[in-house]
Amino acid sequence: MDNCIFCKIAAKQIPAQIIYEDDDLLAFNDINPAAPIHFLIVPKKHLATLADCTVSDTALLGKISLLAPKLAQELGCGYNVDANGVGQGGFKTLFNTGPDGGQEVYHLHMHVIGGPRPWRRSLA
Ligand code: AMP
Ligand code: ZN
Repeated sequence: MDNCIFCKIAAKQIPAQIIYEDDDLLAFNDINPAAPIHFLIVPKKHLATLADCTVSDTALLGKISLLAPKLAQELGCGYNVDANGVGQGGFKTLFNTGPDGGQEVYHLHMHVIGGPRPWRRSLA
């Protein structure tokens, strides 16, 4: 897709701090992080929004959802239950969709946000 910044990152035409890549997905740090850890998971295939996904994208959306906790764990904001059964850590996942959803980049992406609070800004 011409003039799509995340397609250009996926094509290595513009730089990003890439933290994960496979045949279908790319994850990279957000350029304007809301929290100590803030990265984006994007499909390499151009999909504008979550609302543009169809049943044929079910596996892709599942891969994105499963990658989020894996990378969060690797980067230090995983959710874990201690020996007493108390949950620790964790992260926020977010898809902004459309203008009222606060979407700025129209290439599907999941925000994964975590680290010690307070955070720089809220994406609630
Ligand atoms: P959204 O408002 O959900 O569309 O979020 C778009 C996100 O992309 C924002 O958090 C931006 O900081 C981030 N962003 C925009 N351009 C880049 C870039 N070149 N590299 C990394 N993150 C970016
Ligand atoms: Zn794109």
